[in-house]
Amino acid sequence: MTPAARTAVILAAAAAVVAGAVTSFIVLTPSDRSTATPRSTLSLPPTPSATPTPTPTPTPTFDKSQLSHDDASSLWVVVNKLRPLNPVNYAPALANLTFPGGKGQLRPEAAAALQQLFADYHAQTGDQYTVVSPYRSYGTQVSVYNGWVSRLGQAQADRQSARPGYSEHQTGLAVDIDTAVSQSFGATAAGQWLAANSYKYGFILRYPDGLESVTGYEYEPWHFRYVGVALATEMHVTGVQTLEQFFGLPSAPNYASDDDH
Ligand SMILES: [Zn+2]
Repeated sequence: MTPAARTAVILAAAAAVVAGAVTSFIVLTPSDRSTATPRSTLSLPPTPSATPTPTPTPTPTFDKSQLSHDDASSLWVVVNKLRPLNPVNYAPALANLTFPGGKGQLRPEAAAALQQLFADYHAQTGDQYTVVSPYRSYGTQVSVYNGWVSRLGQAQADRQSARPGYSEHQTGLAVDIDTAVSQSFGATAAGQWLAANSYKYGFILRYPDGLESVTGYEYEPWHFRYVGVALATEMHVTGVQTLEQFFGLPSAPNYASDDDH
């Protein structure tokens, strides 16, 4: 190889290295990606991935036993016709709750979450929810239940009102929303907004349609139970509708005895 030829080879090699470096620079530099990508897709229609749509996913490590299902003060307490509160006259620490048309009480966590839900609903739709029934004490539930029994008889009363000591309202974590307290509420825009969004605030629709054999209650599209955002989101994402099914607890269609109150 002549000196000139050797020089040419060296220059060619150097040029290749430089070209490679430049190529690498172009490919790998983040600032280049951020400018090149939009330019190359300018003529394309927007793709779904261009609009971030956060999709919640199940948590593989979700610990279903991190809170008690038995302790009356637990956010995850499961109260049904086979699981009375312990003690039956349990009374929680409460916060005052104000809402359009009235006031009442709930556990502080549930009250704060509900106020946020109401505020967001109003901001998004211009409409307002109200509350029919928040916390009810053991004594109040005695009156409510006995009133239903005298109007409907015990068998029908048991399908729609809890016996004292067996009511989620006594936990301070349950609330009946809107004035209708009718199953038709579930088909309204207001009812559907709640069913679709309540989990973001930590609430679940506790008595879903068609699951009376599990929960012991007819469809109640107005009754929401606060369980915290983590559990409500996990149930929403996994599609498990009841606390009994999610935690693997026995279904509670009926009381253990006909006169256990
Ligand atoms: Zn209720």
